[in-house]
Formats: sequence, structure tokens, C-alpha cells
Amino acid sequence: MFCVKKNPQYTFDSFLAVKDTLDDLDNPFLVEVLSNLSKEDWGEMHRRLQPFANKLSTSWRATVNEIARPENHPKLRQYDAYNRRIDRIVRPAEALKLTEEVFGEGLFSMKQLTYEGIMKRYLLHGNGEAGITCPVACTDGLIELIEAFYEEVPNEVKEIHTHAKEGIDGNFAIGAQFMSEIQGGSNIPANLLEAVPMDTHYLLYGNKFFCSAVHADYSVVTAKIEGTENIAVFVVPSYLPGDKEKELRNGYRINRLKWKLGTSELPSGEIDYEGAVAYRIGPEDRGVALAVGIVLTRSRLDIGFASAAFVMRAAREAKLYARFRHVFDRTIDGFPMAAAQLEELEGAAKRMTATAFHLYKMFLEQDDYDELQQFALRELILLQKIYAAKELSIIYGWQYPFSAGMVQ
Ligand SMILES: Cc1cc2nc3c(=O)[nH]c(=O)nc-3n(C[C@H](O)[C@H](O)[C@H](O)COP(=O)(O)OP(=O)(O)OC[C@H]3O[C@@H](n4cnc5c(N)ncnc54)[C@H](O)[C@@H]3O)c2cc1C
Repeated sequence: MFCVKKNPQYTFDSFLAVKDTLDDLDNPFLVEVLSNLSKEDWGEMHRRLQPFANKLSTSWRATVNEIARPENHPKLRQYDAYNRRIDRIVRPAEALKLTEEVFGEGLFSMKQLTYEGIMKRYLLHGNGEAGITCPVACTDGLIELIEAFYEEVPNEVKEIHTHAKEGIDGNFAIGAQFMSEIQGGSNIPANLLEAVPMDTHYLLYGNKFFCSAVHADYSVVTAKIEGTENIAVFVVPSYLPGDKEKELRNGYRINRLKWKLGTSELPSGEIDYEGAVAYRIGPEDRGVALAVGIVLTRSRLDIGFASAAFVMRAAREAKLYARFRHVFDRTIDGFPMAAAQLEELEGAAKRMTATAFHLYKMFLEQDDYDELQQFALRELILLQKIYAAKELSIIYGWQYPFSAGMVQ
């Protein structure tokens, strides 16, 4: 009789025993980069980063693995049992808890040391996007945008700023940014979403076609002001005060969630606005400059950090695996060409990490630069984003993603 031979003795246990206790801060190169940046604050910074790194390398990592499973991806429930339109984004309990815990860290709070928030965000990226880091980057953009015009925004927007930055009763707001429309994502000046002026605010009418973090509390939205060619930028609450409990959205419907190959834990939707209350931020005709200069510049920096952290984790785990796995007569790292590949991976991780933090330091110090240097820095941020994403895609063996998502 034909008998299938199995090898029940084969186990990955010794690899997993090491991998599962890998602490992302137990990394001499990273520690050198971070300590150089924080200088005299390093002692206190390390005391704050260590428990964060412990959590994300253990319980959060296990949660992230769980919510990445296809059966746990977000879903859209448009109606409740009584035929009321709710457009609820249904996410697993693990994702809700993780979101609450990460945002509860108050990454943008004034209580953080300089660089603390960004160091924690770099560490967070080591766990993948996980439905977390895109909303974190968007919240950063939301806060920065409001701060640029803080003195002139209405009280409702000041309240949104507090909610996102310092939290209200322990609850921290999540931000999103909706700019892409079906006729062209890169081309924000071609936006057709219409903003109709009212006394103290605007009402939005039209469609946004790629809205990630659609579960957010507030979004930064670009739209054309009625009867003009001016694109302005707005902050739009997902619910008006008192309506969240009733699941009554602020004058918009979520038509569907995108089916995506990557970042599937992150709900990305298509939205129809039917009179959503929106608060304009900044001048009527500066929306594109503000969206790119403030909001997207921060997202670009974040893509540099994300690419670096992905490669760092991949390099560390690949090295461990190559030390564990036997092929022919030796472990993988015993083959010179494989060892060279691992070295290359580690080199890329270090290069990308050091560059991302260096650029961020320049970004924070840019007030000391002249106009030309500031322009050069903006270019550098854009180039670094493109190059880091390209390097990441080569390392992971993906085709360079020329298509969607690359232009911003
Ligand atoms: C996973 C994911 C999440 C996203 N989340 C959001 C979101 O939350 N909010 C949001 O607003 N958008 C979001 N988007 C949309 C994304 O930002 C757009 O896809 C992007 O701006 C590109 O727009 P497009 O796909 O319409 O491509 P197009 O604008 O049609 O461009 C297609 C290609 O044409 C070329 N091209 C376009 N313009 C130029 C130019 N000026 N110079 C040279 N070449 C050019 C590029 O190769 C480009 O990649 C998301 C996309 C993805 C994939």
C-alpha cells in the first residue's frame, strides 16, 4: 500500500522561541541612532520607550497577527435591524482594543519629549500598517493643519484639536485625509467635491473615492468652493456632537469598502457627501498648498519611517531564520551568497532608518533654514519617500509600484 511519509518531528520551535522574544529596542544600531538624536534626554527617553517596545513586540504583535487574518478584515454594515442608515465599520474586538491602546499613548501630546512620538511611531511600524499607522499619520497631519491656523479656527475645531492631541476624558481622536477623487488622485486641483458656504461653516456635496481610515473621528478633506475654481481644505467631523451614539453620520454615506491586496486591516471606503458640515482651514485658495505642504509632507516622512522599520524587522527575523534553518549540510547563513544577501538587507535597514531620522531632525529644525534650503528639504522628503518605497519593494521582491498610491 502507498504510504505518505510525514516528518512529525520537524519543528520550528527553537526559531520561534527566539523570534517571539525579540525586543525591537534591543538593537544596538537603532539605540545608537535614537540616543544620538535625543542627546541628554536619552536616559528618560529610554525609560519611556522600553515599556512601549515590550508591549509592541509581545501582546500588540500577537494582536496584529490576529487582525491580519482575512476573516477579521473590516466590513461595512450600512443599515441596522430597523432599516436606519448607520454605515458602521465593523472591526474585530482585537482591532478596537489595539486602536484604543495605541491612540491612548497620546503620541502627539505635549507631555511627550521631543522625538518621543516619532520614535514610538517608528517602533509601531515594525508591526506593519495593521490598521494603525495610517490613521496615526493622518492624525499627525490633522493636528499640524489646525495648529497652522489655530488662532483663527472656530471653537469646534479647537475642540477637535484637543481631542486629537491631548484626548478628552481619556479618549483620543483618530484622523483621516480624503483627497482622491475618481477622476484622478494625484490631481487635487481637479477635485469636484463642492463646498457650499454657510454662516460659520460649509456643506460638502459630492464623492471621494479612496478614503482610508474611514473609521476615523475627523477627516481632512479637499473640496472646491461653490461658484469658484478655488480648492480649499476642510476639517470634517464624522459625527456631529451627540450623534455618534446614534450612529448618525454627518451628512455622508459610505458606499462600500475597497477590496485591497495590502493594508487589508485598514478600512478604505468610497464616500458620498450629501451636505456634511465642514470647517475650512486656512485661505480659500490655498487648499492644494496646505494639503501638500502640511498634510502630505508628514505622510511622506511617515512612509520613510515605515519602509525603514519594515526592512529592519525583516532583516532581524531573516537573520534568525537563516541561523536556524538547515539546507543540505548547513544552516542557510553558512552559504556565502545567502550571507551576503542578509548583510545587504541589514545594510538597507540601517541606511533607511538613519536617513529617516536624520530627515525628520532637519524637518523639525527647518525654521532656521532659508527659503531655498526649506524648498530643498521638501524635495528631499519627497525623494526619500520614493526611494525608500522603491528599496522596500525591491527587497520584498515586489514590482516597483508605479501605480496607485505612489504619487502622493
Ligand atoms: C492603499 C491605498 C490607500 C489610499 N488611501 C487614500 C486616502 O486615505 N486618501 C486619499 O485621498 N487617497 C488615498 N489613496 C489614493 C491614492 O493616494 C491615489 O491612488 C494616488 O494619489 C494616485 O492617484 P490615482 O490612483 O488616481 O492615479 P493617477 O492620478 O491617475 O496617476 C496614475 C499614474 O500616473 C502617473 N502620474 C500621475 N500624475 C503624474 C505627474 N504629475 N507626473 C508624472 N506622473 C504622473 C503616475 O505614474 C501615477 O502613478 C489610497 C490609495 C491606496 C492604494
